[in-house]
Amino acid sequence: MKISELLKQDRVTISCEIFPPKKDDDFEKVRAAAEKIAALRPDFISVTYGASGGTSKNTAKIASLIQEEYGVTALAHLTCASSTKEEVSGVIENLKTAGIENILALRGDIPAGAEFPAPDRFQYASELIGEVKRHGDFCIGGACYPEGHIECGSRELDLDHLKQKVDSGCEFLTTQMFFDNNVLYSFLYRALLKDIRVPVLAGVMPVINSRQIKRSCELSGTSLPPRFQNIVDKFGDRPAAMKQAGIAYATEQIIDLIANGVKGIHLYTMNNPDVAASIIGNLSDVLGR
Ligand code: FAD
Repeated sequence: MKISELLKQDRVTISCEIFPPKKDDDFEKVRAAAEKIAALRPDFISVTYGASGGTSKNTAKIASLIQEEYGVTALAHLTCASSTKEEVSGVIENLKTAGIENILALRGDIPAGAEFPAPDRFQYASELIGEVKRHGDFCIGGACYPEGHIECGSRELDLDHLKQKVDSGCEFLTTQMFFDNNVLYSFLYRALLKDIRVPVLAGVMPVINSRQIKRSCELSGTSLPPRFQNIVDKFGDRPAAMKQAGIAYATEQIIDLIANGVKGIHLYTMNNPDVAASIIGNLSDVLGR
């Protein structure tokens, strides 16, 4: 099913994320995680894309498995900065052959030391969207950054670029993680002022590993509000306590988002079915499932 159709329904949707195996040896582990997450019946499961050959091949494989074997709609991520236009075109054709209807079109990180922009590469996600459209009738999503993309000096300008991306044919947006819901509410308001009217799915990261989250926040420019920082400081060295607190924080964050009218929740489940199950279980009545 196209995610754009799914998002037209008058209810809150919940989706989860999987990252594909980097090595073929790990395929079975990821497959098992995908099966368990699919059993929770999320509205869709997104499958991330890595620049390296193995990971990119496995995105299509895992996405197809999620649809064909487990009966859940899949969203395949696709990046373009580290591949030539010709390579990107080949991947889109593979996704089409695998029966994938939904693509999250991303620029991806610029490979270290590479000449970029380069004539044989797409420079921005908005250019990739044009290419995906050329290949067929896909539903296309994009990324957005409530705190602004790290490379863009101004949030205002970043929103202008986002508007351009939406105008290129992006039908929904998924946010970067954030830990303060007010950051999202302010972003949604500013996006509306730019006439960005596609559905925005709120990306919620249940934090279960304190070291990992500090690094990801530094790289992405995501701020840690004091309330959340205190949790990480207090429980970060005790994995079980951090997991419990991280699940509780994400649950509370989602309840507040839904109470304030957010209709799409995207869980960064990081191949962890237990965490996904706990949060979805905590929310069963809130979600009316
Ligand atoms: P763009 O939308 O192209 O924006 C990149 C930068 O260029 C921004 O600073 C923007 O302001 C600027 N810009 C855009 N258009 C213009 C223009 N016309 N002129 C000047 N500047 C412009 N990475 C992966 O490798 N694999 C994944 O699977 C993956 N999944 C992700 C999922 C989500 C929901 C999110 C939020 C991020 C994901 N990423 C992933 C990370 C993403 O690839 C990086 O954040 C990347 O740096 C930017 O990608 P983008 O598609 O947002 O880029």
